[in-house]
Amino acid sequence: MSKKEKILEIKHLKKNYDDTVVLNDINIDVCKGEVVVILGPSGCGKSTLLRCINGLETIQEGEIYLSGEKISNQDKKMHLVRQKVGMVFQSYDLFPHLTILDNILLGPMKAQHREKKEVVVEAEKLLERVGLLDKKNAYPRQLSGGQKQRVAIVRALCMHPQVMLFDEITAALDPEMVREVLDVMLELAKEGSTMVIVTHEMQFARAIADRIIFLDSSKLVEESSPEEFFTTPKTERAKQFLNVFDFDIAK
Ligand code: ADP
Repeated sequence: MSKKEKILEIKHLKKNYDDTVVLNDINIDVCKGEVVVILGPSGCGKSTLLRCINGLETIQEGEIYLSGEKISNQDKKMHLVRQKVGMVFQSYDLFPHLTILDNILLGPMKAQHREKKEVVVEAEKLLERVGLLDKKNAYPRQLSGGQKQRVAIVRALCMHPQVMLFDEITAALDPEMVREVLDVMLELAKEGSTMVIVTHEMQFARAIADRIIFLDSSKLVEESSPEEFFTTPKTERAKQFLNVFDFDIAK
């Protein structure tokens, strides 16, 4: 079997906020086409980890590589890194005064200097895929939360990132809108997108993940297949965590 291409390599990452260690000696590799889901109790550092990967935070020790190139603490290259690392947040941050289409075109045209014609074709194709082509001339306020989050995913994809990071993107949505957003992510996974996902949707995590990484108190404490994590977690801490979610590990 051919060796899988590593897209993301996190080596001995340490992150502090002042004197508080938030991430301690974190080592993670993500291969092309792989979906890694990061789980852990609130405050364990999941969000900070994603923010370190796309350069929103500097790190105190260790390195992060994207396709073999060092991207951590590279102030001058950060604008290029953010084009290669797509991120979708809980708050979709669409510009209210721009139409859906213009929101999507902004990055590819301004940051990547791509031709409008070519980006419009791609943006419309992506909007069609997430069921929102008819909204292309609408403004964000005219869309539901779930629709806006699907637009935020399209906006990130349109930059052709090498890896997509998702930080709790359904956490602020009404329950009936969660499914439509998770379905888009499941489609992306099927098509071979490389993804790192932070979520509290346990059934979804189990369905989409190639690998689960469990963080607790700033450390990586378990790394396993979803099957193993959800049926026979190795640590007491992971068992307690799953109990809180009322996730029956015997299922
Ligand atoms: P999670 O995503 O797992 O809930 P976070 O990564 O948001 O956790 O936070 C990890 C820890 O870092 C928490 O204790 C949080 O209070 C702290 N933290 C997060 N952001 C900052 C910041 N900008 N300044 C200081 N502390 C922070």
